[in-house]
Amino acid sequence: MTVVTTTDVRLANLLKVYASLRAKSPMTKRQLAQEVELTFASVSSICNQLVDLGLVRYVDESIFTGGRKAMAVSFASEFAYSLVLDMHHTDYIAMALVDLSNSIVKSRKAVVPEELTLESLMDCIRQCYLALVTDCTGKLYCVSVGVSAVYNEQSQILLQASNPLLERVNLAMHLHTVFPDLPILIENDANLAAFSQLDPLKPGKRDQLFVFFTQGIGLGLIIDGQLYRGSHGFAGELGHLKLTGVDRTCSKCGNVGCMRTVVPLTSIARDLGEIDILRRSGSLAYCDHLLMRANQEPEVVQRIDYTAQKIGEVLAELFDILNPEQIILGGNNWKLYPLMGNTIRQTCRRLSNLAREVDIQIQFVSEPINDLIFKGAGEKAFRYFIESCVPELPLVSF
Ligand SMILES: [Zn+2]
Repeated sequence: MTVVTTTDVRLANLLKVYASLRAKSPMTKRQLAQEVELTFASVSSICNQLVDLGLVRYVDESIFTGGRKAMAVSFASEFAYSLVLDMHHTDYIAMALVDLSNSIVKSRKAVVPEELTLESLMDCIRQCYLALVTDCTGKLYCVSVGVSAVYNEQSQILLQASNPLLERVNLAMHLHTVFPDLPILIENDANLAAFSQLDPLKPGKRDQLFVFFTQGIGLGLIIDGQLYRGSHGFAGELGHLKLTGVDRTCSKCGNVGCMRTVVPLTSIARDLGEIDILRRSGSLAYCDHLLMRANQEPEVVQRIDYTAQKIGEVLAELFDILNPEQIILGGNNWKLYPLMGNTIRQTCRRLSNLAREVDIQIQFVSEPINDLIFKGAGEKAFRYFIESCVPELPLVSF
């Protein structure tokens, strides 16, 4: 049996008011009391407490409520920042300062050295961080990292990393050499992409999947509003799922028919003999190049359509196994979605048994991959902030 103390209830109410102000700000105390369904007196006392902590503030610009002026309360986004670090790509790192409202305040990218070692990678992260925080001041509360690997929370070791340098590495331990006084949160990139869609301003879908395309293919599963990782963190590894009619041998696992041999942008580039163009120009510019070729060359359209069919096949299986409210697609191939969307939807509807009963929702996110990871890592950081920091906060100045 769980014992709920008065302190627990007080803290829960404080977090409720705080989260509500994060979603909608400014609000008068009366509006706030209605929003969180607490008495005006309790809300008023909580607001004073939050103002004392510096987490919210009273604002001068009053809000008119029925013709009468009342003091409003506003969320203090700049109270503290998370440093979000996107390590999904093997060629570069990206980092950003994200405020408590999950807005990206400043970001920066750095190409990693060619002869990469863990030491030179940490040095690259340190230099990038110093350049990022030049000319700005504030307080950090954690470092939130996205990696293209399975993260085992118990052992803190990365497995099946797309960057071989990170395989079986305790990344948090290494990052502590750069950020000795900050908590380090590590998460798989597809899970962060799923987090990025949990917008506090919109009522979230309780059961949704995010299929995330990078150099590999990941799946972020939100089940009953919670991230599902599986017992060892391996849930949602789609890259090695076996597809019908695919006879290619996977260069990573040695088996035949893995999804990663025909679906990612890399596999399209390889089939069209353009892997160097993809490497040189990056995924965004390569998609533009593909779209241009697709205008004139039917075989390019066919190759892209083949990827779309295979994605549709996998989505049909995911719908039938998990019955989500929606599946969201995003990643480095987002510019191709206008070309692939119909085939993906049609194939999925044709093959899914569930489609006979319910309308299958598939959404496409047209956003650069770094922004998705920044947003997701920022959201994860904020959850950590309210779960473990408020109201006692160990902060580090920059
Ligand atoms: Zn494989």
